[in-house]
Amino acid sequence: MTHKVLVRDVAIGGGAKISIQSMTNTDTRDADATIAQILELEAAGCDIARFTVNDKEAAKSIPRIREKTHIPLVADIHYDARLALLSIENGIDKVRFNPGNIGSASKVAVLTRCARLHSVPIRIGVNAGSLEKALLQKYGSPTPDALIESALLHVKLLEAQGFYDIVISIKTSSVRDTVIAYRKLSSLVDYPLHIGVTEAGYGEMALIKSSAALGSLLIDGIGDTLRISMTGDPIAEVHAARKLLSALRLYNDGIEIISCPTCGRTTGDHLATVKAIEKKLSHIKKPLKVAIMGCVVNGIGEGREADIGIAFAPNGAVVFKSGTVVFSGSREEAIAALIEHANEL
Ligand code: SF4
Repeated sequence: MTHKVLVRDVAIGGGAKISIQSMTNTDTRDADATIAQILELEAAGCDIARFTVNDKEAAKSIPRIREKTHIPLVADIHYDARLALLSIENGIDKVRFNPGNIGSASKVAVLTRCARLHSVPIRIGVNAGSLEKALLQKYGSPTPDALIESALLHVKLLEAQGFYDIVISIKTSSVRDTVIAYRKLSSLVDYPLHIGVTEAGYGEMALIKSSAALGSLLIDGIGDTLRISMTGDPIAEVHAARKLLSALRLYNDGIEIISCPTCGRTTGDHLATVKAIEKKLSHIKKPLKVAIMGCVVNGIGEGREADIGIAFAPNGAVVFKSGTVVFSGSREEAIAALIEHANEL
């Protein structure tokens, strides 16, 4: 099990619930726009929000953003240790910063002292796109080993100062390299890992890349916090992350729809029926497996295995609850019965 790190009141690692992160795409200097987006992220189920702190004006927005939002905040900083210090002094909950980028051990000592004083963890965020030149020369390209070597160099700099409140990420846009790199890294360190595929693209392909890489890792028990990176609206990243964690049964906080792909046996507009039932059950926040099947061939089996299920037939439908038939009748009556029984459960 990984070592536990606290980001304000959210634990990362040590067996804590896998937290969902995203990053705002507003100008951090515009505190109101950033606050509005973080509130939207919170409503979607984001646990930790990150924003860029690329200058002093952005760092000045931190107290106001923190005052008006509710989830832990992370300052994303590249190269400028003064901005990391300023962010910590202004109340940030975590910084993403690579200590190897600031040149001297004395500067790292100042940073870690300040972070320790304010109980602020540091995420070392190695990215294939900004790997150190020396490692690029050594490995020829940002290979998994190059990413790991970079991360471990940064880790050593923090450990040399007695600082261990560390989270690590090693991101690349390659699904395969991401999985290989994190598998190896997890065997070498017990710091919590922030997993993600960076520059994953947009839409369907981004979802597939992130699901393939993060799904593989999470099934192996690797990953303590995650971000699904997608070009565009960060709220969509959070929805996708929640769905991925639900699909892996790592999040049990709502309904899980089991529905068949449809075929020539399907009766009625099955997609419309599934969407309508999902909408009617969307208020349920407890784990509930709901099977909605287009016919009785596979429907009876899946319906019985789910907490609640419905299987349609040409002349009606059957409803199951905890493996037992509780209703049979017309489609409309059966859907109403399914909703009623689901609410009871
Ligand atoms: S459950 Fe029935 S309708 Fe749905 S795909 Fe299977 S055989 Fe076809």
